[in-house]
Parts: sequence; structure tokens; C-alpha cells
Amino acid sequence: MALYRVAIIGAGPAGYFAAQALNNISVSERSFAIDMFERLPTPWGLVRSGVAPDHPKIKTVSKVFEKIATGGNFRLFANVEIGKDLTVEQLQDRYDAVIIATGSSLGKSLGIPGENLRGSLSAASFVPWYNAHPDFTDVDVPMESDTAVVIGGGNVAMDVARMLALEPKELDPTDTADHAIDAFRNSKIRKVYIAIRRGPEHAAFTSPELRDLPKLEHTNVIINEDEINAAIARVGDTAEKDVKSNLDAMLSIAQNQKTEHDRTIEFLFSHSPKEIQGNKDVKDVVFSTANGEVTIDCGLVVSAIGYNALDIPGIPFEKGKVVNIDGRVKGNMYVVGWAKRGPSGVIGTNKSDASAVIELLNQDLSQPKNKDDISDLLKGKKVVTQKDWEAINAAEIAAGEPLSKPRRKGITWDDLMAHAEIYFF
Ligand code: NAP
Repeated sequence: MALYRVAIIGAGPAGYFAAQALNNISVSERSFAIDMFERLPTPWGLVRSGVAPDHPKIKTVSKVFEKIATGGNFRLFANVEIGKDLTVEQLQDRYDAVIIATGSSLGKSLGIPGENLRGSLSAASFVPWYNAHPDFTDVDVPMESDTAVVIGGGNVAMDVARMLALEPKELDPTDTADHAIDAFRNSKIRKVYIAIRRGPEHAAFTSPELRDLPKLEHTNVIINEDEINAAIARVGDTAEKDVKSNLDAMLSIAQNQKTEHDRTIEFLFSHSPKEIQGNKDVKDVVFSTANGEVTIDCGLVVSAIGYNALDIPGIPFEKGKVVNIDGRVKGNMYVVGWAKRGPSGVIGTNKSDASAVIELLNQDLSQPKNKDDISDLLKGKKVVTQKDWEAINAAEIAAGEPLSKPRRKGITWDDLMAHAEIYFF
């Protein structure tokens, strides 16, 4: 059986599902030795730094990742940045195939005046801040005013609104970063608006996320029933299943509204952001609506309007994605996940996406190259191997145990590296 060596750049869900798809081929025809490269000292991508900490079930997919990582044909090279510590060309030369799985980490910009005021943030900073991403520890999140506005009608907007509006003690049994829990405890925010530029029938939320909202124990959720009924009338019987399910979920929230709490999330449909106003700090946001302009006073605005991929030298990017045809990039380079198709779908979407690309990769392979191992190019570099990551993981889980948390995350690069028994090549 021929053995092929494959490099995967990025240790998030798309990368692990690409590795899994390679293993599925290994069983039948060929075998693959997989090296996964990751810029951070920790793997799991958005499962670690994106998924909301109050949704721990979604993170159980990490068990699948660890099974792949300990399968015997897999090596982790974390704390290694492609484009800096190694070039893409070096990987293309040494490996039979290179798979880009670097996701989309840059928040899209609203392109309206005032976006750079203090108190105006992208979800691309706010989410990794509360999830203890070591590059985002110092994000300035002003929460001194009683109102926050979240712009966008997708699941990220919903995560952000929930995190801002829930009672912070609900975060005690979660792996939310210590600094974020402290900040939420001191937060004066009691009212969070989710401002969506189109009508309810066009919202990008998914219904399981909507149906979770009424489970918040200390937060009212307000949706205008008339607006949902009008949307239901507009789409009629021809509505797609997902749209219908979303509208049903919104109607149920609208009809069972709670008002007893002092914390509230309110949905505003057909509010298109026009300008963020303020001097140095955010003072308010102006929206265009069907009835003219509406101004909402607030001290924090978080935009959750999608993401673009971050460029890496040696990889062709266009319009926030890697240039590709069905996952083929150029030469022996392939792309999977959000870097390939843009930021859409849930974690599981990456499984079928990766399988389809790996099928093409498998068709393209000829004879194995049998080049030298990559290790000689990493001499002197502090690589976090799978064994080192397991040490970080165990240290975090042990630190969480006395606090009844699933883990207490290392906050800085130094913390994380100190947990690992670093092996020098
Ligand atoms: P998304 O689902 O694409 O939603 C983006 C939202 O931003 C849309 O409502 C869009 O409105 C709006 N938008 C875009 N440009 C705008 C602008 N200039 N001004 C105002 N609004 C604007 O993206 P996302 O929320 O970032 O989520 C990314 C993916 O991750 C999605 O597939 C999501 O389902 C997934 N996700 C899943 C979960 C979960 O399963 N629990 C959690 C988080 C994220 P238009 O439609 O009008 O363009």
C-alpha cells in the first residue's frame, strides 16, 4: 500500500474533518501520514475560540478531533505559523498534498461612519475575547452604559447578544475566560438590541438557536408579534422549511414573552445601520427604517455580519476566500471549510465539504514523493506537539475541576506554553 504524506494548515473543524476523510480512504486503498500545522499553541479552532461557552454540547465534537489526533498516523505541529516559520512552498515541496483549513477570522466591516469609535467592535474580536483566545485578551469592551446594540441577523449575533444579556452567574460553570466573566459581572448593560437589516423571513439565524433563547433564566426576549405575522403572510405557503421553522420559533417567542427580568434582548427587524455616532466613545447608532431614521443610544456596538479569510503568503485569496474550484487551488494545494466556501454552515457542514475535496485530492495523486521529513526545517522552534497539547489540555481541565468548570483556559501565550512540555526539534 502506498503511503502519502499530507500537510493540513489549520487545526479547526475543517482541518480535522479533512484528516478524517483521508483516514476513510486509507482504510481502502492508500494510507496517509498527516501533519497538521497550527499558528496557536492550541488546536480545535472555533470549537475552542468561537463556540459560545454556554453551549458546551457543541464542543463535544472535540472528542472526534482527539480520536483522529491519536490515531497513529497524525502529528500536531502547533505554535508553527505557515508564512513565517515555514513557507507554503516548503510544504508543497515536502508533502504529496497541502490542505488549507485556515477558516475566516477577519470580521467584515460595516463601512459606515463611526465604526472606529471606542465601543464599536466586531464579533471577530468580541467572541475570541470571551473565549480566551490569547491574541484577544486585551480587547477593550466598554460596558458602562445600560444598552448594547448587536448588528447582524445570524447565529453569531445571537451568541453575542446572549453573552451580553445573560446573568453572569450562568457563566460560572462554563469555560468563559476569567477576564470576560469579571467584565460581565461589572457590566451595566441590561438591554441588548439585535438589529437586523431585513425582515424576519430573511434572518440567517437557525431555529435551534432561536428555540434556545427562552431557556435563558434571567433575561426577557422581545420580538414583535405583528412583524412575525406580517412576515408569515408575506412568505405564504411557499416558504422553505428552514424559513418556516425560523418564523414558527420567532412567533413562539413573541407569544410567550417574559417581562419580569431586568435584562432584555429585543429583536429589531428592517433596521439598516447608517452611522455610529459619538465623540471618542460610541454614543448612539442611527438606523434607516421604513419609517425614517431611528437613533438608539448605547455605549457598545458589536457587528456580527460575517467574516473574511486572512491572507497567507503563497496562497491565492480573492473576496475573502482562497481562490479554488471545488476545493482544488493550484498544484498539490487544496482548501476546505470556511477558507474555501466562506463563513457558512454549522460545524458538521465541514464534514461533507471535506469528504468531497478529499475525493478529488485522492483522484489527483500519482506516486508518493518520499521527500525528507519536515522536522529539519523546524530546528530550534518550540513546536507544541500532540503530547504537549495533551499536557495543556490536562492542565486546563485540572484547573477547572475545583470550580466545577469543564476547563479553566490559559489566557496568554506564555500561560499556554508553560503548560506544555515543549519539545525542541
Ligand atoms: P451569517 O449567518 O451569514 O449572518 C450574517 C448576518 O449579517 C446576516 O443577517 C446578514 O444580513 C447580516 N449583514 C451582512 N452584512 C451586513 C451589513 N453591512 N449591515 C447589516 N447587516 C449585515 O453569519 P454569522 O452569524 O457570522 O455566522 C457564520 C456561520 O456560522 C453561519 O453559518 C452560522 O449559522 C454559523 N454559526 C452557527 C452557530 C450554531 O450553530 N450555534 C453559532 C454561530 C455561528 P443579510 O442576510 O441581509 O445579508
